[in-house]
Amino acid sequence: MKPKMLGRNLSDPHHAADRACAGLNTEVFFPDTITEAAEAVEICVQCPLLTRCAEWAARAGVTDGVFASVWVPGLGASTQDKNTARARLALVAATGLPYVEPSQEVA
Ligand code: SF4
Repeated sequence: MKPKMLGRNLSDPHHAADRACAGLNTEVFFPDTITEAAEAVEICVQCPLLTRCAEWAARAGVTDGVFASVWVPGLGASTQDKNTARARLALVAATGLPYVEPSQEVA
């Protein structure tokens, strides 16, 4: 018996040719601070694979980097910061919209 198709592609999007980060310097996606993450976030916002990336990152339990517009802190971060990042990835996956820091929202 064949397994049922999920209807969504939850494979790692970082091998897909149409990702917005294709061919870019990967260092941009591994900033030391959330402030330095802005460049990567702007790239993710334009990515056609944003939702897939958020779903994959949430399932993979990624740490330390920018995925689907969300800065995920490293393993040494507080539990609260890790949980916040997980919640933001889930929000992006559920809505298909990039995560925008409240300070970056347009009034
Ligand atoms: S959402 Fe961002 S990190 Fe994910 S594949 Fe697209 S550009 Fe790359």
